[in-house]
Amino acid sequence: MRYAAAHDLPVAVRATGHGHTAGLHRGVVVTTGRMRAVRVDPASRTARVEAGARSADLVAAAAGDGLAPVSGSFPGVGVVGYTLGGGLGLLGREFGWASDHLRAAEIVAADGELRRVGPGDELFAALRGGQPDVGVVTALMVGLVPLGSVVGGGLFLDADDAARVLPVVRRLGVDAPDALSISLGVVPVPDLDVVPAPIRGRTVLHVRLVSTDADLAYAAEAAVRETAPVLLGGLRDLPWTDSGSIFAEPETPHAYEGTDVLVSDLPDGALAGVVAAARSAAVGCVVDVRRLGGALALPADGADAVSFRAAGWIVRVISSTDGVPISAVRSSQAAVLAPLDGVRLGRMAGFVYGGAPVSAEEVHAPEVRDLLARVRASYDPDGRFARASAQDDVERGLEEAPAGRADLAAEPEDA
Ligand SMILES: Cc1cc2nc3c(=O)[nH]c(=O)nc-3n(C[C@H](O)[C@H](O)[C@H](O)COP(=O)(O)OP(=O)(O)OC[C@H]3O[C@@H](n4cnc5c(N)ncnc54)[C@H](O)[C@@H]3O)c2cc1C
Repeated sequence: MRYAAAHDLPVAVRATGHGHTAGLHRGVVVTTGRMRAVRVDPASRTARVEAGARSADLVAAAAGDGLAPVSGSFPGVGVVGYTLGGGLGLLGREFGWASDHLRAAEIVAADGELRRVGPGDELFAALRGGQPDVGVVTALMVGLVPLGSVVGGGLFLDADDAARVLPVVRRLGVDAPDALSISLGVVPVPDLDVVPAPIRGRTVLHVRLVSTDADLAYAAEAAVRETAPVLLGGLRDLPWTDSGSIFAEPETPHAYEGTDVLVSDLPDGALAGVVAAARSAAVGCVVDVRRLGGALALPADGADAVSFRAAGWIVRVISSTDGVPISAVRSSQAAVLAPLDGVRLGRMAGFVYGGAPVSAEEVHAPEVRDLLARVRASYDPDGRFARASAQDDVERGLEEAPAGRADLAAEPEDA
């Protein structure tokens, strides 16, 4: 940080690179990927997690003591990036946002000083879901919940049965007790030999269920099975260390762009419209619909920066950008989310990927924007991190390249 300050360079930070939108031209990129240590204190049910630790590192370290973090669907995500974005966990409806469990953070701000911040500090509040982008977090102290195993899994059904399946999934979501989490994927499965035959080459509905209460989970599974034939999958008792198998997201890196909307409600017609638009889109669109509510809707204990807690659902869309014009990706994704226009509250920044356009107004409530402005003025007054993010905005087409920084809009010769 001191080197960057001395040379007046913008700074960006990355752990896994999952959330990155653009290369950084003429700046400093701090990579934390080798700082993966996790130290669990079973007595206080907390863990100290270094900046580059992945979700799987924390889950594995906590499991030995019968504890678990409020982790999300993919074991390969960085704990810091996930938590700074709020962190929507697989059991979020029961335990709240991951950032609700943040206890303290160690951070090197733009001035090069290492600080430890906790409840009462505005910077700490901003780190709880606000992605303030004012420094490099070197470690987080996170709270853990007592959790050994859950009942969870995914059921694949043919998207041709959507008219029967969708209303039941939606109703299960609306009526679900907090201990039951439910989500729905709409996935155009490639016609490849590596894919299990029952779903190969079909567009499928992937209904994912997970609960700490076995009866709840199996009752929901039975209700889904009554709607239409299940092509593949089912629920089982599984240790939290296997929770990545519920969504079973691919681990192979590839280029993609994605966006999302947080909605107050999800009328049957809107859900059917989203699924129909995804199926007819010119560009392949993977949709992920997750029920929110429950503990996710409760206020945090202390100041924080999660916006739109009142959202009842989140609807995400992701497309591969390999060999596809970005304009085609964006218009297909806009068409998929258009049926939600009447119920949208905002977007969750952690699920906006690639160069997908997004504004601060869409991802942060007004009071959070004020908090972030104060924190940025205090901890990064020269805008060292903001300047790196501005390069993303140029890439997204939201901003003109600043005067004298034509390099931001042009292909770099020395990248
Ligand atoms: C397959 C997949 C599944 C996902 N599932 C979920 C889910 O279930 N729930 C959910 O909430 N999110 C989920 N996400 C979103 C994920 O939480 C965000 O993309 C997150 O930002 C990724 O963090 P990272 O460290 O892996 O990525 P990176 O690209 O390395 O980091 C992303 C951003 O986080 C910030 N950051 C990272 N490290 C630091 C640091 N040390 N100091 C300061 N800032 C830092 C930076 O702004 C950086 O640009 C998923 C993402 C993927 C790819």
